[in-house]
Amino acid sequence: MTIDQFNFAGKKAFVRVDFNVPLDENFNITDDTRMRAALPTLKKILADGGSVIIGSHLGRPKGVTEKYSLKHILKHLDELLGIEVQFANDCMGEEAAAKAAALQPGEALLLENLRFYAEEEGKPRGLADDATDEEKAAAKKAVKESQKEFTKKLASYADCYVNDAFGTAHRAHASTALIAKYFDKDHKMFGYLMEKEVKAVDKVLNDIHRPFTAIMGGSKVSSKIEIIENLLNKVDNLIITGGMTYTFTKAQGGKIGLSICEDDKLDLALELMQKAKEKGVNLVLATDAKIADSFSNDANTQFCKVNEIPDGWEGLDIGPESEKLFADVIKGSKTILWNGPTGVFEFENFTHGSRSVGEAIVEATKNGAFSLVGGGDSVACVNKFGLASGVSYVSTGGGALLEAIEGKVLPGIAAINE
Ligand code: AMP
Repeated sequence: MTIDQFNFAGKKAFVRVDFNVPLDENFNITDDTRMRAALPTLKKILADGGSVIIGSHLGRPKGVTEKYSLKHILKHLDELLGIEVQFANDCMGEEAAAKAAALQPGEALLLENLRFYAEEEGKPRGLADDATDEEKAAAKKAVKESQKEFTKKLASYADCYVNDAFGTAHRAHASTALIAKYFDKDHKMFGYLMEKEVKAVDKVLNDIHRPFTAIMGGSKVSSKIEIIENLLNKVDNLIITGGMTYTFTKAQGGKIGLSICEDDKLDLALELMQKAKEKGVNLVLATDAKIADSFSNDANTQFCKVNEIPDGWEGLDIGPESEKLFADVIKGSKTILWNGPTGVFEFENFTHGSRSVGEAIVEATKNGAFSLVGGGDSVACVNKFGLASGVSYVSTGGGALLEAIEGKVLPGIAAINE
């Protein structure tokens, strides 16, 4: 079933969205991209004369946590939807069931953070550090058992299920995948956002125009090894940048001063370089860095060779030479994937590299390349630099996008297609 084929009139839809938005210390939303991304789906259902029960997670709570309450975003959701959205303080309580049952056409109910329950993720909580393997297995079994009830209850609120949460599509959680089995093929579907994401990923996976360049930034190699290894089988050029740079530099005997580095990943860095060579992939690393004498926006700065960083200094962005090196590769590409900044872009004085990568991608896109930007930080970058409209597609998914690019089947997608 597709969302355009389904007539929501008089129907209740459980819509799983990704409202995991960043909040500041006063609970103000600092970037509402993810909320706006779900609007077309929500508005379509409401306009059809359906009602929506909205489920989401926020953050990684380990139980009920005021900081991660979805009530902080309720007012903004009202504004975006132009209606007064009801709220259920507990996604499982009687209140939630009663409010869902009473929903009238055109009305919406937001459920409290689904992850206040361990059952959403299906992972045991509160295990003692010294728990035995047996205890761990028993706890896991228990939560998997109660997860069935949890999922069934969520499903009972609605007549149909719409998954519009691409950001969690790589997780086989209760509301992102398991719930789908309570609805037949004619009563479950992707939302508009999911449809778009799936199409964009498909283009990068199955309709590759070469050269294909991936730009992987961010802080740690360890969190991106698998993706990098997989990308080596697909891309022509792989630009590895951001904090990861210095693990590669040190592995090759360079001086990196105080730059971020994973000392236990030096061999891995050399292995990845070797693999790239064997596969004929052009692995591109920065040649120079913008260095700082402290980890702060106001630090003193200078440019130097990436492998000659003086003691007491650290690389917080790429330098002009690397910017040109990266831009030349990017501008010559026909398919581009960008995940992760070139430096600490949260500090204004270290945004230049990320901005130049974004600008090069926009130029390549103007010349016919298909460009996909994904991952929270790169999305924040293109938004911050006003470049979002110049790239082909900005994905709302980080981990989900990368797993999809790796060719993995995402549970959230499979559950709808099954
Ligand atoms: P990730 O979450 O792994 O995608 O990494 C994104 C983070 O990497 C951002 O918060 C950046 O500030 C950080 N980052 C990028 N370059 C550096 C660097 N040279 N040193 C320290 N952190 C960095």
